[in-house]
Amino acid sequence: CIAKQTGEAFRRWSPAFDERSNEQVRLGAQMRHALDAGQFHVVYQPIVALPSQRTVAVEALVRWQHPQRGPISPGVFIPVAERNGLIVELGAWILRTACEQLVRWTARLGPLAPDRVSVNVSARQLARPGFAAWVAAVLVDTGLPAYRLTVEVTETAVFEGGPAVTALHELRTLGVRIALDDFGTGHSSLGLLQTVPVDILKIDKSFVDRITEAGRHAVIAEAMIQVSHGLGLDAVAEGVETAEQAQALSRLGYRLLQGYYFGKPVPEPDFTATGELLTT
Ligand code: C2E
Ligand code: MG
Ligand code: MG
Ligand code: MG
Repeated sequence: CIAKQTGEAFRRWSPAFDERSNEQVRLGAQMRHALDAGQFHVVYQPIVALPSQRTVAVEALVRWQHPQRGPISPGVFIPVAERNGLIVELGAWILRTACEQLVRWTARLGPLAPDRVSVNVSARQLARPGFAAWVAAVLVDTGLPAYRLTVEVTETAVFEGGPAVTALHELRTLGVRIALDDFGTGHSSLGLLQTVPVDILKIDKSFVDRITEAGRHAVIAEAMIQVSHGLGLDAVAEGVETAEQAQALSRLGYRLLQGYYFGKPVPEPDFTATGELLTT
């Protein structure tokens, strides 16, 4: 169609678009070396249970410390890695690193260690043949029991069904838990729950942001917790930044919360329920 062609031609000629795509090509080309050179690291953000506020899980989030440009956000480089395919290798490294870390924390902290680690997995990783078998091998290698690993996928990653959904079934058979990330922002949030095996709904930050206003966001957040309880799923509220938001979510029935109010992503979170410093 003409409109689409003109649109594409315009984008091709737009200097801003050129700059952005050059930038992405550059980053993509540097990523391979960056992985070998140890420029990536993993940080962990607490997921706390109410009312104890114990850190029952952590979410692993990748960081890129670029030697010239400083920190680059995963919101920038993950899409590039998804396009150039390096997400497969980078994602494999992240998942293994996160499993090793939880095993190390458990050896050091015993019952103070979080029960689970949650790892974001891209559609492209999930859809690769043998993904679940590979995860099983990592669990055996690292000694992490399957029930202590959660895989976070977005609605869009599993929207089309196919091999990605097959992989989720296989992971679940292993005992790995499945979380639907950014829940409520995708194409078919509720419809997906009929076909995709899920254990946890992660309610997107956009609902949490305006939870304290008596408006549609609070109504939707309440409906989502009812759906999750009705289906026997856990629900995690993402992006909780204030005490008021935490209280509002708690009143609605949320028992698992994640956000800057409880802790930012850091290399070594403080896992004591009371916030006192660890003496180890
Ligand atoms: P996500 O999986 O939904 O992760 C939550 C994001 O929200 C993280 O951003 C986290 O730092 C941020 N966040 C948590 N609490 C708060 C809060 O209270 N306020 C605000 N403003 N932000 C909060 P981050 O680390 O920049 O990651 C962004 C996205 O990049 C992730 O969204 C995920 O989609 C992707 N990503 C990050 N690490 C990985 C990874 O290891 N593999 C893959 N495939 N994707 C990743
Ligand atoms: Mg996530
Ligand atoms: Mg999320
Ligand atoms: Mg998100």
